Amino acid sequence: MSKTNVPYKIYLSENELPKEWYNVRADMRTDHRPLLNPATLKPCTLEELEPVFCTELAKQELNDTDALIPIPGEVRDFYKMYRPSPLVRAYCLEKYLDTPAEIYYKFEGNNTSGSHKLNSAIAQAYYAKEQGLKGLTTETGAGQWGTALSMACGYFGLDLTVYMVRCSYEQKPQRRTVMQVYGAKVIPSPSDTTAVGRKMLAEHPDNTSGSLGTAISEAVEVATHGEGLRYALGSVLNQVMLHQSVIGLESLAAMEKADAYPDMVIGCAGGGSNLGGLMAPFMRDKLRGKASPYFIAVEPMSCPSLTRGKFAYDFCDTGRVTPLAKMYTLGSGFMPAPSHAGGLRYHGMSPILSQLYHDGYIDEARAVSQVDVFKSAIEFARVEGILPAPESAHAIKVAVDEAKKCKETGEKKTILFGLTGTGYFDLYAYEKSLAGTLADAPPTDEMIEESESTMPSVG
Ligand SMILES: *Cc1c(COP(=O)(O)O)cnc(C)c1O
Repeated sequence: MSKTNVPYKIYLSENELPKEWYNVRADMRTDHRPLLNPATLKPCTLEELEPVFCTELAKQELNDTDALIPIPGEVRDFYKMYRPSPLVRAYCLEKYLDTPAEIYYKFEGNNTSGSHKLNSAIAQAYYAKEQGLKGLTTETGAGQWGTALSMACGYFGLDLTVYMVRCSYEQKPQRRTVMQVYGAKVIPSPSDTTAVGRKMLAEHPDNTSGSLGTAISEAVEVATHGEGLRYALGSVLNQVMLHQSVIGLESLAAMEKADAYPDMVIGCAGGGSNLGGLMAPFMRDKLRGKASPYFIAVEPMSCPSLTRGKFAYDFCDTGRVTPLAKMYTLGSGFMPAPSHAGGLRYHGMSPILSQLYHDGYIDEARAVSQVDVFKSAIEFARVEGILPAPESAHAIKVAVDEAKKCKETGEKKTILFGLTGTGYFDLYAYEKSLAGTLADAPPTDEMIEESESTMPSVG
């Protein structure tokens, strides 16, 4: 069935903005592996999570029974400033590839933070404000999450301290400034403001470039030691997957308007939140036996958690201060080689995505080369106009590969992928790609074995 009368951009009206988030855990027919307290190896209770997260978010973290959770009015009002986001029919890309496939992408880069992360940031800031808290702490790698949470905290008048991975802090001073414009205090990590940071600096005086794992440890330490503070995380957690379901719910509604349904759903996977959100209602259909779209998670070769990691309990951070999560992991001590998709450099993966992948509901994980990813990003920018974030370009690369396969087989598949953000702060990486000096540095098996050997053993 050809859908040539579909507009280039399928917009929903404000009234069609979802009123509830969808919690995929309510439909998963598997045991939910709880977060564990690393000291006792017992499931974390609400009381144990409350010093770290706002109470309402701790409840969402533990909720595996309610399929629909209302989006608070104030969060919906904020969403209305940049949502519903457009679903784009990629006619120009289809024509360029000369493919019979019909390609759609959901564009989440239409806000100042430049990514989907604002969808959860505003929810997390809202619940903190509702609880009467003074502020939040967080970490940021490439800067997208820190920017999103800065916007959200600025909006609700909350204090925010952002631990920014030092190499990004130095390489992306403009990101730092954007956060400061919205009122955040930005500290390069590792820093001397926390015990974890001081330990890292003392142990590795020659390597202070930092990592996401260390920055998380620092932010958690400050939140749990300070008065009226809680910690916020931009991915991985169940609560974040829940908030990001707005991406998928809008995509489903827009596709219905176009009388289309995806055969294939593709997203990049760092901590798993954009893919978790994009796929949510389509996964609901799959879990309920109504449809069977093919799901592909795309990760960088340099940080291959799903394709080369273990499905096991592990710490969520390098400093080993967080609870243990059952997930695909390369070991919390894993240090990926520097790459230009900072948002995909995480050792673990959302427990929800991990379980769905383990159970075969996510059909495939694919690790791709950043050299190829940037080629696809540049092709995409030239034909579709949008300058994609390097993370998003991982999904583009696989969507393009799949569309090319359709050309060979003559299949008219409907492909949906997540275009999570824009790449204006990543021009250095684009410059290297244009100059032909980008390279890949996948870890050796020995490197992965070594970092996995320090994982906690949970019977
Ligand atoms: C953070 C980020 C990602 C990866 O994070 P997920 O939680 O896996 O979605 C992808 N794209 C962009 C633009 C990001 O900022």
